[in-house]
Amino acid sequence: MRARPDAALVSAVDDARAAAVSAGGAEHVGEHQGHRVEGERVVSHLFASSRPGYRGWQWSVTLARAPRQKVPTVDEVVLVPGADAVVAPAWVPWSERVRPDDVGPGDLVPIRVDDPRLVPAWLTGDPATEALRDDTAVRQVSDELGLGREQVLSLEGRDSAAERWYDSDRGPAAPIATTAPGRCIGCGFLVRLAGPLGPLFGVCANAQVADDGSVVSLDHGCGGHSDVRLPSNRQPEKLPDPVIDTMSHEPLVWD
Ligand code: SF4
Repeated sequence: MRARPDAALVSAVDDARAAAVSAGGAEHVGEHQGHRVEGERVVSHLFASSRPGYRGWQWSVTLARAPRQKVPTVDEVVLVPGADAVVAPAWVPWSERVRPDDVGPGDLVPIRVDDPRLVPAWLTGDPATEALRDDTAVRQVSDELGLGREQVLSLEGRDSAAERWYDSDRGPAAPIATTAPGRCIGCGFLVRLAGPLGPLFGVCANAQVADDGSVVSLDHGCGGHSDVRLPSNRQPEKLPDPVIDTMSHEPLVWD
């Protein structure tokens, strides 16, 4: 239930200002900008801040009153950001901040222990088998059988890679693909991928185009498609037969 505004605290603007001035100095406390009811007999008064570097911030002075007491008590005085305040951007964990270009020779990008893009190789990605993730016995058997890599892509990791690749410059919406004469699926330079991503993607192996060596979606395309031919009216001109000159000679000079 929402607390009712306490009349004694709401009217105690001067007490709140005195507390703000005591904390921030008279020259840094501006006009009263309202109050906020925090709870039963607890009210915060807001004053504009003119402190250098705190444009748009407010002094928030929280007053409380005990039952049957008229004199308010100052709980705290803090600077809080207002709607126009300049504040630091939201903190982002480093693991989400690192971009592919940030990783140079010798740099390491450790994965999180619970990275959702990976699952132990003996899991299917099916949530029903998740309980086996930390099962030591299963891990031992897997090691003894030599099932290969310890971890593989999870369904989430695979889906996110597929979305990223499909929406990239090597997907069907890339400008080079929308004007291409053919799709990668019909191109002789496409190397098909095995596995679950194979029905959607392959690798381009045409050294003459920018996508050479990259994963391309099967409905991507470019002007280097193997079916592209010069029109008959733009074929290279046929050269005349060579003429063998048997009457004169040309000097050959070696350095
Ligand atoms: S050459 Fe062009 S059309 Fe062919 S696979 Fe590469 S990107 Fe696709």
